[in-house]
Amino acid sequence: MYIFSPSQILKLKILAEGITVTNRAQQWLLEHANIAKLSSADYASTSGVVLKLEGDVWVNAPLQEYNPNFVDAPTSVLDVIDDGLYVSNGNLEARAWYCLQPAYHSSEELADLPKHIVVTHGDRVRLSPMTGCSYSCQFCDIPFSGIDYSLHPVDVCIKALKTAAADCIQPAQHIMISGGTPRESDAESHRALYREILASFQDLPVDIMMVPLSNVFDIDELGKLGINELSINLELHDEARAKKLAPQKYQFGARHYLDFIEKAIERLGRGRVRSMLLVGLEPLESTLAGVKAIAERGAVPVLSPFRPDPSTPLRDLRPPSYELMYEAYLRAQEIAVGYGVPLGPKCPPCTHNTLSFGTDSHGNVVYPYSQPALL
Ligand code: SF4
Repeated sequence: MYIFSPSQILKLKILAEGITVTNRAQQWLLEHANIAKLSSADYASTSGVVLKLEGDVWVNAPLQEYNPNFVDAPTSVLDVIDDGLYVSNGNLEARAWYCLQPAYHSSEELADLPKHIVVTHGDRVRLSPMTGCSYSCQFCDIPFSGIDYSLHPVDVCIKALKTAAADCIQPAQHIMISGGTPRESDAESHRALYREILASFQDLPVDIMMVPLSNVFDIDELGKLGINELSINLELHDEARAKKLAPQKYQFGARHYLDFIEKAIERLGRGRVRSMLLVGLEPLESTLAGVKAIAERGAVPVLSPFRPDPSTPLRDLRPPSYELMYEAYLRAQEIAVGYGVPLGPKCPPCTHNTLSFGTDSHGNVVYPYSQPALL
């Protein structure tokens, strides 16, 4: 039987309720990390502070400042004691480290580029190749940000990524291209963007997260260009919920996603295709059916606890409870192991906003890249 460590229990409690940062911890962090704000707060699921808890458990801890809609009475506290951070909740306590934000987040280096075109979380930089999105999913803040859709020129994307990769504090060690679905008319230029970025960053692993649009993806070409991993997110397995909450994404139905995942695994191989499911927006049994559908095809399931963003129509919902996440993790893990795949993602710092711990089949935490700079 799986036994959660104190840090793992703290992670689930923090994801469910958020965290209180004491005034002295806040002051200590702002001074020592030389930052203006604790979080990049750039996206619904990355709105918190990235911490590593002892035992290499990573968590993106929601703060009241960015999620007043549900961070109202957190039972977990981040404090500083003798020049070190600690998280506590009742009789649970764990040493904690703040994952430093890169210098470019608070410098003028990218001031002339679109806001949040690149943001680094842990060791990975996320490139958003567009502002806005041609879709409108109810759980995502992008369609409700009031920013019009526009595709960024490739040279601008490359400049931004080079800045993130060369950062003097937290250089990005891998890349994820994500954030937004292009319009039909932009499909070809989006394919060209993938080609150019893969060709320009051959020394950094590049993942792509995208809706499985046949006119945007050429899996064979991406394979030849050296793509690291594809993330084709099913998000919701219950089709009625999916159609209501993400109507454009599900116009083709879950079957289209699963067929695409199967095809991508045939071309790229096992371990190079993953698919994320949101926990807390549909019955747990539906999410677990999704885990099975993904894992039995040889893809890596990723569980992402729903985090309601204040700008979205779902703002009044709560994240999944600690108890629900506890059960979801155990049952999903059992399903995944049964099909010989881990719960993803594999990179421990990238588990900061997922319901997983970056452990291998022996329960060990293995870092594929150097550990991010911590405080
Ligand atoms: S497709 Fe992605 S970026 Fe666009 S609205 Fe949906 S979740 Fe947000």
